[in-house]
Amino acid sequence: MLRTRKYVLDLSDLQYKQVRWHWKKKLLHIILWFAGSVLVATVYGTFIENTIGSPKEKLLSQQVENLKLQYTLVGRELDNSIGVLNSLRLSDDRRYRPILDMDSVPESYRKAGFGGVDRYIDLKGYMNSDLLIEYKSKIDEIKVRATVQKESFSSIAEMSSEWKREMDHFPGISPVSVNFRLGDGYKWRTIHPVLGTPRMHNGQDFEVPYGTEVYATGDGSVIESGWNSGGFGNCIVIDHGYGLQTVYGHLSDIKVITGQNVKRGDLIGISGSSGLSSGPHLHYQVEQFGAHKNPVNFFNNDVSVEEYKDMIQAFESKSKLR
Ligand SMILES: [Zn+2]
Repeated sequence: MLRTRKYVLDLSDLQYKQVRWHWKKKLLHIILWFAGSVLVATVYGTFIENTIGSPKEKLLSQQVENLKLQYTLVGRELDNSIGVLNSLRLSDDRRYRPILDMDSVPESYRKAGFGGVDRYIDLKGYMNSDLLIEYKSKIDEIKVRATVQKESFSSIAEMSSEWKREMDHFPGISPVSVNFRLGDGYKWRTIHPVLGTPRMHNGQDFEVPYGTEVYATGDGSVIESGWNSGGFGNCIVIDHGYGLQTVYGHLSDIKVITGQNVKRGDLIGISGSSGLSSGPHLHYQVEQFGAHKNPVNFFNNDVSVEEYKDMIQAFESKSKLR
């Protein structure tokens, strides 16, 4: 850099003379320059800060943007969770409960605890209060819905296992598995084959050969096994619970004892012609709360639709003929 020299006109002798600064003046000059630079830098810095922002502010605003994005994602997750719970509620109300003949859970119960008192008062007064309250209320809704759903499903599970238990006890199969011919059905008989007098036939006869295996038609416990003086000869009575009992008569052999628990399909006896019987057959009877029921309306599991129809037809034609 070129060194600049200053000259000044000396009027006393009209000559230019070099100006020589005193060191104090030089120092003052330097100080003034420095102060001026600092002033310019400060003004410029303030201007930049106010219009564009400092690096620190930029970082902070970046972080705020990231937080906003994360909030949005969390909000979406919350909405998804509510959606999942809603679809569970639909399965609950439209699928499981109707099958089990259960009432649906009232919506008021699913939303219990909402409304009324302002539960989010603590979250008020912040810059992002609205968002906080919105999310907190969604979280609370999810908690309540999930709890109610859990309870609902456990009651469905309980009901379905109870229902399964009841189905297992229901006398739902035929007591013999051979290709049997149906004998007399559940009807008024003008002439009893042995007594020769009119008598109600309270069961269904199966024309099976002597020695045919007889099975329990549902789970239950044996309440009678032995000779029946009422005409059924060797006879078994099973109590299935739920007010249902089945009777197996005219047996040649009994394979169970009174008090024994049996499962559907267990071998309980062998058919015969004991008691008041005109020939080998199984007399099968179903009682519900003490009233005789038509056994044909009970078995369905092991019988095909066609076989079932045939049975009904056979039963109806027999009822008409006799
Ligand atoms: Zn009979």
